[in-house]
Formats: sequence, structure tokens, C-alpha cells
Amino acid sequence: MKQLSFKNRIASNYIITTALLIFVVFFVIYSIVKFSVYVRVNNEIKAEVTKHLKEIEVIENCVLLIREEQWKTKQLNKVEVSPAFIQFVDELGALVEKSPNLKQKQLKYNNKELANELFDTKLENIAVRQIQVPLYQGSKIIGYLIVAMSLEDSVMVLDNLFKILLIAYPLIMLVLFLIARFIAGRSIKPISAIIETSNFITKDNLKSRIPLPQNKDELHLLSHTINDLLDRIENAVVREKQFTSDASHELRTPLAVIKGTLEVLIRKERKPEEYKEKIEYCVQEVNRLNHLVDELLLLARFENQRQNLKLEKVNLNSLLTDVVSRNSQAIKEQKLKCTTEFSNEVSVKTDSYLFSIIINNLLTNAIKYSKKGSEIAIHLVEENNKVQCSIIDYGIGIAKEDMDKIFDQFYRSKNTHESDIKGTGLGLSIVKRLCDLLEIDLKIESQENIGTKAILTIYDKK
Ligand code: ATP
Ligand code: MG
Repeated sequence: MKQLSFKNRIASNYIITTALLIFVVFFVIYSIVKFSVYVRVNNEIKAEVTKHLKEIEVIENCVLLIREEQWKTKQLNKVEVSPAFIQFVDELGALVEKSPNLKQKQLKYNNKELANELFDTKLENIAVRQIQVPLYQGSKIIGYLIVAMSLEDSVMVLDNLFKILLIAYPLIMLVLFLIARFIAGRSIKPISAIIETSNFITKDNLKSRIPLPQNKDELHLLSHTINDLLDRIENAVVREKQFTSDASHELRTPLAVIKGTLEVLIRKERKPEEYKEKIEYCVQEVNRLNHLVDELLLLARFENQRQNLKLEKVNLNSLLTDVVSRNSQAIKEQKLKCTTEFSNEVSVKTDSYLFSIIINNLLTNAIKYSKKGSEIAIHLVEENNKVQCSIIDYGIGIAKEDMDKIFDQFYRSKNTHESDIKGTGLGLSIVKRLCDLLEIDLKIESQENIGTKAILTIYDKK
């Protein structure tokens, strides 16, 4: 079945309710008109009955008009819009007297049960409303006064009203449907704008935004939400593009260095020491490449993968000692003094491999950016349900304006360029991502030329 458009659906739903409502209104109008028409006729008939009852007398079981001739002329002279038909009958229904306006016609006498009741009947072909009032002598019925009044005009009025309502009903519905459809169409115009803009948006063109409707209604909110979503998508795409170009640039740099060194090396015959020196340099660059590829793989691998975590009870004391001993060579080279201060044996539920990557990155940073011969302190404190691990160095520190950028991929602060410390700028973004994954709170406090403190807070849920 073909689905109705949203616009037509709104209009149809509106029209169904309105149709029911208008039907009820029309029915009520028709009933009120019919009721008032009948009330008027009934009242007129009753007035005629009272009037004529006064004009009769009963002598020897016979109904007689007081002034018969006068009555007849009066009836003849009555020029009324809806004249009343009057007729007297005896107790068996035989005609005694009738008003001249009946001419050859005669009102129908009905059986006794209908006495004093108003009912619809026919006078030949004319619809009339009629009453037959019993005339008594003592308790004995000696005849009836029958009064009838034509319903022709009333029936015509009611018929016309019925026809008008019948014709007006579908017409009103049609007009209302068209109006509702038009209004619905106008109200959902912002939706069309959303569809149009959405069609226009591609991966390469994320700049367009949905124009916000003037009324601050649900559609305004929807457009606003979609625009926010587009902002986030655009940011993500821009970051992804930036990452890809930075990654390829970073990969190309060591490759170019290796290529250049080797090309120069083979240009002519060289001494063995010279070969050794250049090859060692190339090995260093290959190591750098290795490190970079490892970091890139890490970043790609741990993007929102909570389900792959291997959570277990991990003893942080031994994990920290392990990481320190793995870096002992670098510590020695920098002539650093690395002290560990553990309050007690601390274990937390975490992924030991990922946690050691975090610590390793923070410690290599502390080593790299420390001043030669200075100190690095590692603290581990447990209080309540909270474990805090801090790595403190007294190195070059981070400038205030760099603080909010150090977690960006490939970002390296300017003082690292000056001091010629090698790095890719991916370490802290990996640390940040892993901390999010392991639900660890990471805070970095630093002062330029004084030192840096990285604090990890783990809320142990046991
Ligand atoms: P790598 O990817 O090899 O770790 P990196 O150390 O340069 O490279 P990050 O670990 O992400 O990159 O650090 C980003 C930047 O933050 C560094 O370039 C440095 O400027 C600054 N930084 C990080 N840790 C420290 C620290 N302990 N002392 C001073 N500066 C730091
Ligand atoms: Mg680093």
C-alpha cells in the first residue's frame, strides 16, 4: 500500500477528528430545528383545542356548537399561513361537523388509544400533525374534537436544512482538508530544509548547516541538534585528515633521512668506520620508525574497545618496578636518580598490559624531558577506594599555552624543538585514550623549567 506523505497524514488525522465533530454539530443543529418546529406546531394545535373546546356544548349526548353559523363564517374567514383543520366526530368516529377548509377531505379518526396524544399522520397526501380530544358527558365519551395542522412547511424547512447540511458536509471537509494540508506543509517546511541540506552534505563537504527556523519549537531543537552533530562529525573528519597527513609526514621523515644517508654513503668508497657510523645512524632512524609504527598501531587498536580489555587484579608495585627497570638504561644515560615511594602493596583491577603502556609513556617522557642529573620520583598511595600514582620530574616543564594541546596527536611543544629531544608527539594521546578506556583519571601539572607531575587516579571498584 502506498504510504501517505507526512503532510497528508497530518491533514487526514485532523480531518477525521474534525469530520466526527462537525457530524455531531450538524446532527445537533438538525435535531434542535426539528424539535423547535414540532414544539411550535404542538403549541398551536393545543391552542386551537382550548379555543374550540370553549365553543361547544353537549346536549342529550350530542355535541353541539354554540353558535354554529358564526363558527363556520369565522373558520371561512380565517386566513392563516398554516390553518388548523377542525373536525367533530361522535363516539364511533362518524362525522358531526368540520371546518370549511377541509372541503371534501376528512380527518382520520383513530382508535381510542391515541386520545389526547399528538401524532404525525396524513390528510390525503398532506403530512399533518393531529390530536383527538375526547368529549365527555359525565364520565362517558360522547365524541371527539380532532384538530390537525399541516406539516408541509415544517417538512419543507427540515428537508431543505437536511439537504443543505448534506451538501455542505463534504464541501466543508474538502476545504478543511486542503487548508490543513497547506498548513501542515508550511509547518513541516523546516523538515524539507533538513532533507535538502542533508542531501547536500558529503564527506568532503561538511560545511553546510541547516538553517534554524524562527520559532523555537521542536523543529528548531531538531535542527540545532543535527547542526551540533554535524559540527562533531566535521571535527572528527578534520582530525582524521590531520592525523593521516601527520602520520604520513612522520613516516616519511625517517625514511628520507635513511635514503639520503645511504645514497651519500654509496656514492664513493669509504672507510670502515665511516660505514659503521652511517649504518648505526640508519639503525637509529629505523628504530624511530619502528617506534612510530608501534604507536600508530596502538592508537588504532584501542579506539573504544572496552570489550577487548583483560581486566584482572594487578599488583601496581611490581608493575611500576618492572617499567622502571626496563628504562634503567635511559635513566643511567641521563644520569638521573629514580626513586620509588610506595605506601604499601597496592593491587587494582585493570588491564596490566595497557597500564604498563601508560606508565611507560609517562616515565619515558619524564626521563626524556628531565634535566641531566636531576631526579624522578614515583609515588603510589592508596586511600579509601582510590589509588593514586604520580610520576614527578624536574625537567624542562610544559609552557602554560601548550597544556591543552599536549594530548593532541603529533603535538610537540616548542621547547622540545629547541632542546632537540626526539619524539613523535603520540605518547600522551595514547596515554589519554588508554586512560579513558580503563576509566583512569589523568592529570598533568607542570611549570616551565621547574618540572612536571603526571597523576593517575584509579577508582578501584573491587
Ligand atoms: P612520543 O610519541 O615519542 O612520546 P613525545 O614525547 O614528544 O613523543 P608526547 O609524549 O605525546 O610526545 O608528549 C607531547 C608533548 O608534551 C611533548 O612533546 C612535550 O613537549 C610535552 N611533554 C610531555 N611530557 C613532558 C614532561 N614530562 N616534561 C616536559 N614536557 C613534556
Ligand atoms: Mg612521549
